[in-house]
Amino acid sequence: MYILFLIITTIFAIWIFMDSQNKKGNFFIPYLWLAAALFFPVIAIPAYFILKIVKPTTQITNKENGKTILCPKCGKENNLLQSVCCFCNNQLNI
Ligand SMILES: [Zn+2]
Repeated sequence: MYILFLIITTIFAIWIFMDSQNKKGNFFIPYLWLAAALFFPVIAIPAYFILKIVKPTTQITNKENGKTILCPKCGKENNLLQSVCCFCNNQLNI
């Protein structure tokens, strides 16, 4: 049973690592999550899913000069067509 737990933990750790790399945030964050998921899987794996769900959604606002999108990280306005914030490089999920 312990081996099965290790396999599941490793799969989750790799998935979390790849998922957090896609966010293009801080370079170190995926490695921190990978380490956390491997050493503290009982805490880190549920925590990752909670943070993924709780994370604020990107707001879309209508301005006089067209549609803009507010960055959930820094709160600055970006063009709706942009996928990454031009101020802080945060991923803009629509
Ligand atoms: Zn931003």
